[in-house]
Formats: sequence, structure tokens, C-alpha cells
Amino acid sequence: MDPTSQKTIDFPVPKEKEAKTGIVVVGGGAAGMTAAIAAARRGADVTVVERMARIGKKLLATGNGRCNLTNTNRGIEKYHGANPEFVLGAFGQFHVGETLSFFEELGVEPVVESDGCVYPASGQASSVLDVLRYEMEHLGVAVLCDTPIRRIEKGRKGFGCMSADGGMIRADRVIVAAGGKSSPNLGSNGSGFKIAEALGHTVKTPFPALVQILLDAPFLKRLAGVRIQGRAECRVDNIVAGSERGELLFADYGISGIPILGLSRPVSENAGTGRKLSLHLDLFPDAAPAQVAERIARRIAFNPGKPLDISFIGMLHKRLIGVILEEAGCRNRELACGSLSPGDIHRIAALLKDWPLQCTGVKSWMFSQVTAGGVDVGEVNPRTMESKIVPGIFFAGEVLDIDGDCGGYNLQWAWSSGYVAGISAAK
Ligand SMILES: Cc1cc2nc3c(=O)[nH]c(=O)nc-3n(C[C@H](O)[C@H](O)[C@H](O)COP(=O)(O)OP(=O)(O)OC[C@H]3O[C@@H](n4cnc5c(N)ncnc54)[C@H](O)[C@@H]3O)c2cc1C
Repeated sequence: MDPTSQKTIDFPVPKEKEAKTGIVVVGGGAAGMTAAIAAARRGADVTVVERMARIGKKLLATGNGRCNLTNTNRGIEKYHGANPEFVLGAFGQFHVGETLSFFEELGVEPVVESDGCVYPASGQASSVLDVLRYEMEHLGVAVLCDTPIRRIEKGRKGFGCMSADGGMIRADRVIVAAGGKSSPNLGSNGSGFKIAEALGHTVKTPFPALVQILLDAPFLKRLAGVRIQGRAECRVDNIVAGSERGELLFADYGISGIPILGLSRPVSENAGTGRKLSLHLDLFPDAAPAQVAERIARRIAFNPGKPLDISFIGMLHKRLIGVILEEAGCRNRELACGSLSPGDIHRIAALLKDWPLQCTGVKSWMFSQVTAGGVDVGEVNPRTMESKIVPGIFFAGEVLDIDGDCGGYNLQWAWSSGYVAGISAAK
């Protein structure tokens, strides 16, 4: 849509229920609440408009209820989108140090774990939400819940935020912090993208990220619930797209676990394109293939009369043994393990080091933790978060085409972009 073709409206004098505000923040998530606090601290008259019955519902679910609020291992490589460098504009003003000070002043004591992940000392995501809500209340920020905004109309002076029930909330400036499409049960249902498009913005096609991967394999039901430690490598058309190590969890649909969430982005982006998508599991990442073969040969030498499947107990998860043997072409599990040929041992060891699994896609939006794609950052000023297309409109958080890795990086983006949008809108 050509933004210059937008009609200019004289908004009617507000009806009684319509609040007259300086800044309206659309969305009471992590980015919206930070934006509201930053703007209100600079004297702005702020109203947060939230479509759910309560603000901050997603925040309560973060970090398995503990809220991994940031990560001390910073790096641009943790962020993705058409132009990840966009984050630097906000991070230059409000990054990890400022975030930690911000929360410490609000009362949240941060605890940094060995992987750099930061959690509140209380171990409760609710404490992060509580201090944000208290600060908003203290600053006089108005909160309107159960009020989904459908679109934003530009007037001769300011904006009208049109709610689904036909109401209008006037604003001098609007911060769109409506999130992406992930976990719609927690609030963000993609309506922020529609609002942005109607204002003339381009939205890069959203797709789910940090999500479980679907596999095409006949043995998934047998493995459902099996947890193993290992390394997973994701390949697109046989080209390595990422590699992660940690706990891998099999499920009847495919595979999950933090390393898998971290590898899901290229699978999700390329699903349905005809490209070959595969995961390659290494169940012994600290050993070379020859060392794994030696370990198997040694076990067999100790007890050559043991049936094949029994002989792997203690080395592999019990439910994995039969599957691995079958995949390696050793179908007669009752055979004495001593009858395995060196070629059989080599094949089993090779499979344990590089077990290829075909991916068919990822689980749905309902299961994804973050949305890749979103409002084109080329149309937004990185130092203010203001729209280059409609001055007076600002964006913050996941609604933008920025997504981060697992480990606190997405909330960091929400705090940073929210804070910068808030101070800029209040200027
Ligand atoms: C289960 C889960 C666990 C996670 N754990 C972590 C973690 O530990 N660490 C981390 O860094 N990240 C985590 N994330 C990701 C992180 O929560 C998000 O990236 C972050 O919350 C995005 O903040 P946001 O404010 O941009 O969007 P959201 O938090 O999605 O907030 C957007 C808000 O806008 C409201 N809204 C939407 N449309 C409208 C509308 N039209 N009108 C009015 N209101 C509207 C929504 O209801 C919502 O409250 C997790 C995500 C999930 C789902």
C-alpha cells in the first residue's frame, strides 16, 4: 500500500470512554512494558493497550517459568533476520549492562549461570512481571486490557488507534509492540503485522523459529520420550546450516530439546521448498568414529556370547539399541554379538557418529517460542525505532524482523528496542 495514499482524517472529539493520551503502546508484552516505562519516566502520558485480559502473559511462560531475561555472552551472531546489524542501534543505547541495572533498580536481583543466561534470583518469571507492573502503576501508566487494536489511522494531528469493539484511542505517537505470531495462546497473534502493513510497511514473511522439528522416520513411536546427550547438525541440501550440542529429546512427531530449537530456523524457513532438510546426530561427540568402533569391539570381546541387543546395554539408551541396530542393517538381535563382523561394527559406529534423519518441517505456531520475519527493519530508524514511512509510529520487539537464539537473546531485544522506542517517542 502506498502510504502517501492514506486518507487524512479529522478525528471526532473523543467520546467519554475514549482516553486522550500522548503515547499509546499497542501490546503489553516485554517490549511494550519497557517502552511504556521509558516514555513515562520522560514525562509522557502513556496508555498500554492489550488484547488479552492481562498484560505480560508470555513473560510468565519464559525460561520454563524462570524467565531467562538476558545473556552476558553478547554477539551479533545471536540475531537473525534480513539485517541483524539493525539491533546495534538499540544495543548501543540499552544493552545487557543497562538491562541488568534497569531490573536491579526495579528490585530484580540477577543470577548469571555458567552459560551466561541471566535469571531473577527469585527463580520466578512472575517477579519480573510484578516489578514491571508496579513501576508502570507508580508512573501512572494507564493499562487497557481486553482491547485488541485492529488498525491505526493517521489524522491531521496524531493518530487514532481503532479497537475491535469500534472504540478509538487518540495518540500523538504510537509504539507498536504487538509481538509476532508465536504461541498465540499467550497473546501475539500476528495482528501487529496487519497493523504495520495497513500503515504502508513491508512485512517479511513470518515463520516459526525456536520450535520442535518434525521427522520422517518409522521408529519415532518407539523412541518417544527418550532423552540422550549428543550433537545435532542441521543440513539444507547437504550444506551445514548449524550445529548444537546438548540434550536431545525424541517425540512421536520428531525431535525436541534446546539444541533442536536452536537448529529449527533453517528447517522452518526451507520447509515446503523442495530442499533436502536433514539432521545428523552424533551420539558420541567427544570420540572419533574409530574410537567408538574400538569401544564396541572391546565390549564384544568381554562377552562374545551375549545377544546383540543385550550387549549394548550400558552404552546406549535401551530403547535406542534396537533402532540403531536395525538402521545399521543388523536385524537379528538374538544373534551372539561375537558374530558381528568388523564391517558390522564399523557401520554401527559410523551411525552412532552420524545418524541422518530426514526433516519434514517444524511444529506449528502454537509451539514456537519466537517469530522469524516481521516488519522490514529497512523501513525503521535503528537509533529511534521510528517508522521511516509514518513519522510518529514506532516499533519494538518481536514485531520487527529480528529474532534471536535461545538463551535470553529475544527478551534482550524486547527490552532494548522497547526502551529506545519509549525514550524516542517521548522526545
Ligand atoms: C514459551 C516461551 C518461552 C520463552 N522463553 C524465553 C526466555 O526465557 N528468554 C528469552 O529471551 N525469550 C524467551 N521467549 C521469547 C520471548 O518471550 C519473546 O521474544 C518476547 O516476549 C517478545 O516480546 P514482545 O513484547 O515483542 O512480544 P510479546 O511478548 O508477544 O507481547 C506482545 C503483546 O502484544 C499483545 N497484542 C498483540 N496484538 C495486539 C493488538 N492487536 N492489540 C493489543 N495488544 C496486542 C499481545 O497480547 C502481547 O501481550 C519465550 C517465548 C515463549 C513462547
